[in-house]
Amino acid sequence: MRALMTSEDIGTTIEFSAVFGEPRTHEAKHPWPAETVVSAGSGIVFIRNAKPGEARSYTSLFMEVYPPGAAFIRGEGESPEACEDAAWAKYRRALNCTDGSGSHDWEPRDYHNGAGFCSRCNTFGSKVFTGEQLGQLCRICGAGTTYHWHTNAETGSEEFLCEEHYEEHKPPRRSTSEHPLEQLLDSLLEADDPHPPKETS
Ligand SMILES: [Zn+2]
Ligand SMILES: [Zn+2]
Repeated sequence: MRALMTSEDIGTTIEFSAVFGEPRTHEAKHPWPAETVVSAGSGIVFIRNAKPGEARSYTSLFMEVYPPGAAFIRGEGESPEACEDAAWAKYRRALNCTDGSGSHDWEPRDYHNGAGFCSRCNTFGSKVFTGEQLGQLCRICGAGTTYHWHTNAETGSEEFLCEEHYEEHKPPRRSTSEHPLEQLLDSLLEADDPHPPKETS
């Protein structure tokens, strides 16, 4: 396996970095392909769309893997073993997902950034839809885009902006809360709304 940050070959030894508690070393027990990229640790998980009064975050151990044949898999659990077991079970489901077409049955659900989930095995894939496929057209030039979307505060309708027109036409930022901690959480949740990375190739 390879470490996400350094690309270093780590064999089967996975370091769970520590935000809470002690760092832990875990020997992988499932036969992950050698080219699997892994990142593991403990952290705060922010809950998008939490209802008022519900928890907006929780702490968890996690293991995230990018194995061949599946874009991104995350396992959470009480222990490194439980994280690996959860990730492995999802990976097996992804590999065994087939209707004979050799590909997943992607659906966008609530994502506007081109990502989707498979309706059969629930695998997450990035860049599986184009803006055209999603019917997301830049409100300035009409090009299909997965770069940015927002809800128009006045009309309540969804609007899309391509990368070229985002800076000039983006909506003003505003926090809906007076409370500093709520504002911080809002900004973190907004920051979590991923823009696709710029293509470098
Ligand atoms: Zn699938
Ligand atoms: Zn545009």
